[in-house]
Amino acid sequence: MANVSVLRLDLAGGLAPGNKVFKLQGNISAARHAGYQRLLSFGGAWSNHLHALAAVGAELGLETVGLVRGERPRALSASLLEMQDWGMQLHFVSRDEYRRWQQPERQAELQQQFGPCWIIPEGAANRAGVLGCRAIGAQLNALAVPGSRVVLAVGTGTTLAGIVAGLDAGFEVTGVAALRGATDLEQRVANSLELCATPDPGTWSILHDFHCGGFARSNAGLQEFIHAFESAQKIPLEPVYTAKAMFAVWQLLRQGSWHSTRDIAVVHTGGLQGRRGFNWLRDPPARHHR
Ligand SMILES: *Cc1c(COP(=O)(O)O)cnc(C)c1O
Repeated sequence: MANVSVLRLDLAGGLAPGNKVFKLQGNISAARHAGYQRLLSFGGAWSNHLHALAAVGAELGLETVGLVRGERPRALSASLLEMQDWGMQLHFVSRDEYRRWQQPERQAELQQQFGPCWIIPEGAANRAGVLGCRAIGAQLNALAVPGSRVVLAVGTGTTLAGIVAGLDAGFEVTGVAALRGATDLEQRVANSLELCATPDPGTWSILHDFHCGGFARSNAGLQEFIHAFESAQKIPLEPVYTAKAMFAVWQLLRQGSWHSTRDIAVVHTGGLQGRRGFNWLRDPPARHHR
């Protein structure tokens, strides 16, 4: 059976390791170039993206502003508390307002309200985000067996596009969509490659059948897989992204769909802070039988 290795971005150091740091590094370079000391972005109460933004802001001494989707809860989530401790200014906005604030024509208004700032779209799904993720491709070039199949979880497709742009020829990239019915993803990835002037090598694809119920949802199969995988491999996963990618690999290998001897390099994109949002994960894994 294929040899599976894992690129552990979750261990990469820093306060909030994972793929979000790469997307943010691209944005911080762009912000500095444009002369901004303050970064503003959007996300939910458990957002890996906002959490990572607050972390790199604290690490680099940059001001950060987070527009958080939904009214201020009576008790802040563990993620929000940490963001606040790291100095992020949190602003809670209703779901409608949250959507409206992201319209490009409202950027001037954001600048007026929060001061001059580099505005990063939700999930850092912009050109700078893609450019930052090329460094993940470079790590794979150095560490993975040439010609491996690279597998990773996909939300906006920004990370996948950056990896494709950074990889040497010969690799094949398979994304596992964490959202149900994300039919525009292929187009988004194609657009992202175009944005950073990378000819599309056509060596990537996205699997749409492993979302396990939809974004941030899980089913019994996924939950059971997480517990079994973690206790066998001693590699922690989280149910929103990384577990879905790993579960897909396991199922496709087991079914014989990927029967070849081609090596597989799974990118562990981090996000482990988000585990705290799931009650069924807080406790030690339940005992299970195999
Ligand atoms: C955000 C995130 C992803 C998805 O990244 P995209 O660039 O939006 O596709 C994957 N894994 C983890 C852990 C994430 O936090």
